[in-house]
Amino acid sequence: MSNKIIIAIDGTSSTGKSTIAKRLAIRLKYVYIDSGAMYRALTFYAIQKEYISKTHFESNKLINDIPNIYIDFKQNKETNKFEVHLNGVSVEKHIRSLSVSNLVSKIASIGKLRKPMVKIQHFLGSNKGVVMDGRDIGTVVFPNAELKFYLDASSELRAKRRFKELVDANHDISYNEVLNNIILRDKQDISRKNSPLRVASDSIVIKTDDISLDQLENKLFSYVTPLLSKK
Ligand code: C5P
Repeated sequence: MSNKIIIAIDGTSSTGKSTIAKRLAIRLKYVYIDSGAMYRALTFYAIQKEYISKTHFESNKLINDIPNIYIDFKQNKETNKFEVHLNGVSVEKHIRSLSVSNLVSKIASIGKLRKPMVKIQHFLGSNKGVVMDGRDIGTVVFPNAELKFYLDASSELRAKRRFKELVDANHDISYNEVLNNIILRDKQDISRKNSPLRVASDSIVIKTDDISLDQLENKLFSYVTPLLSKK
């Protein structure tokens, strides 16, 4: 019998969810799924098709186009990293831009657009052995996940970390733009009607302000080990 589990990591923007989820997945030899990348890929598509901009959003056009949009993850043979693909092409390089970040929460608030994403997420997690991070993984996508974490930290610290990551990746961006985007996205993600960001009742809540990545990894891992040996 497989002793694999599903680990859900939710929380506000830029709390280190994806970094820590990747580390856990490597340590456990599990698959890591960045569900935010899927909403970002969908947003990138909508921007290209001019269905959405700062001033307009034709959600029905995007909803009608869903049968033509195929999102999945494939390993980059050079870097070995899993990248999100939109209709067969890696869009990893485009989806972290401010133009996508500023519009993604609008797209993610539409139930008819979330549904097909959740369907893919269910498929990806169907054999367990998955660490998935996002906003609704422990509450909606995998409410029966064996282990759920909710990460949070102050907006300033999150903006500082995210700003450094973006500058390191050559994005032309200011600290204030990053901070404002984080605050706006949190607000939209928490207040939306469909699958809002909230703490699942059985989630382990961790503040990541005063903790290093190594400490955080070990802390999360300490909850994993007893579950694996129980099975
Ligand atoms: O995780 P990341 O910050 O890349 O996610 C980008 C956006 O995608 C979030 O701000 C949120 O609006 C949306 N999202 C979501 N549900 C998820 C993952 C991401 O609504 N499971």
